[in-house]
Amino acid sequence: KEVINVIGAGLAGVEAAWRIAQSGHKVRLFEMRPKKTTPAHKTDKFAELVCSNTLGGKELTTPRGLLKAEMELLDSLVVEAAKKTEVPAGGALAVDRDKFADYITEKIENHPNIEVIREEVKEIPEEGITIVATGPLTSDEFSEYLRNYLGEKELYFYDAISPIVYADTIDYSKCFWGSRYGKGGDDYLNCPMTEEEYERFYNTLMEAEKVPLKDFEKACYFEGCMPIEEMAERGKQTLLFGPLRPVGIIDPRTGKQPFAVVQLRKENKEGTLLNLVGFQTKLKYPEQKRVFRLIPGLENAEFARYGSIHRNTFINSPKLLLRTLQLKKNPKVLFAGQITGVEGYPESAASGIIAGMNAVRLLEGKTPVYPPETTMIGALLKYITEADPKSFQPMNANFGLLPPPEKRIRGKKERRAYLAEKALKDMKEWLKELS
Ligand code: FAD
Repeated sequence: KEVINVIGAGLAGVEAAWRIAQSGHKVRLFEMRPKKTTPAHKTDKFAELVCSNTLGGKELTTPRGLLKAEMELLDSLVVEAAKKTEVPAGGALAVDRDKFADYITEKIENHPNIEVIREEVKEIPEEGITIVATGPLTSDEFSEYLRNYLGEKELYFYDAISPIVYADTIDYSKCFWGSRYGKGGDDYLNCPMTEEEYERFYNTLMEAEKVPLKDFEKACYFEGCMPIEEMAERGKQTLLFGPLRPVGIIDPRTGKQPFAVVQLRKENKEGTLLNLVGFQTKLKYPEQKRVFRLIPGLENAEFARYGSIHRNTFINSPKLLLRTLQLKKNPKVLFAGQITGVEGYPESAASGIIAGMNAVRLLEGKTPVYPPETTMIGALLKYITEADPKSFQPMNANFGLLPPPEKRIRGKKERRAYLAEKALKDMKEWLKELS
């Protein structure tokens, strides 16, 4: 009988292994720690939370609240562990990180169907079905192997994420659609600035608070992911030749070229999310809100994803993966977790469940599947496999990924409640059909 291998016992790997084992199949789970560690992990435990201890909001009207509710329908080990080891944190599900990792490690190590192998994997095993879940800090040797296996340009070592705003929170009376030199139709939403508006934006940006880069992240700038505030440090004019350059853009309301222009690009086909082009940043999240809301039209913008820059190993999923998380060029190899370009603890874990499900289906001779795109997990998988491969960057759960309600619903909370209810209903139906 074929074997199933899971590489990496992080958030995604433990979910995948758990799902396979609970389905009655044997699984080999490879983990390199403690023999070899990453620059962020501190223990030898599985599903170690390397930074914050929260798995996001609890309410169904928060993106991660919905995501976790869907994961519970899929018998998530990570959500079970989080609920058992919860610590008070207002509306968020925060955990005691040691107890959380202990709970999961114990469950995994004692499962009769899971064989834990504490070794660094250096290549994808030839035999059997394999799930690669080695995370944002995949070991160097395995990264190098993946680069050769997938194609040199298809594996990245840093993310440089621009903020994304919800399209329905923009004041369109202050901006206009169009492309530079009129090429490319109405692909961009242009937010023009006067000289005074630019001054104010520039000065606020210069004094805003940044997140310091970790030592292992410093090489990033040499890889071409220069943050906007770093560019601004080089002089007041630099941004006007960079992401805020106005050349070739005429404001149809004045017939003139504005002093500066911020361009936003549609992030998904539905046009519910807009990306601030070239605005990768290390500003703290509240500071991003404060500074970027100075851009005309964005005064009340809500952020679906904040900008960031990280050391992060991830593959060009839109090019390489099917929505089932199988590798197009070798469907017996699946990817899960942050390495697929989902961003965050629960997002990584959720993708692990789907990869685990599909490994089981492959073993049982069934067709691999994915949840409906009206669910948060389904929408994330759709995004990472259908985004533009040329500008692909990691994505966290957010309501802009879901198809908008087919009827008009007043109020953000009401709209989200409607989408969440639909997502859970569709997830339940999907599971019923599968069984
Ligand atoms: P991981 O949880 O990292 O698991 C991968 C596992 O694979 C690790 O145990 C690793 O030791 C092992 N491994 C790697 N290479 C090999 C190999 N060759 N052979 C065998 N084993 C291997 N997300 C949040 O939601 N909140 C945060 O606060 C947050 N902070 C982060 C901070 C940092 C510094 C980083 C890098 C990421 C952070 N993330 C955060 C993003 C991400 O959600 C987490 O990294 C998450 O743990 C990803 O889950 P994963 O399963 O994909 O990878």
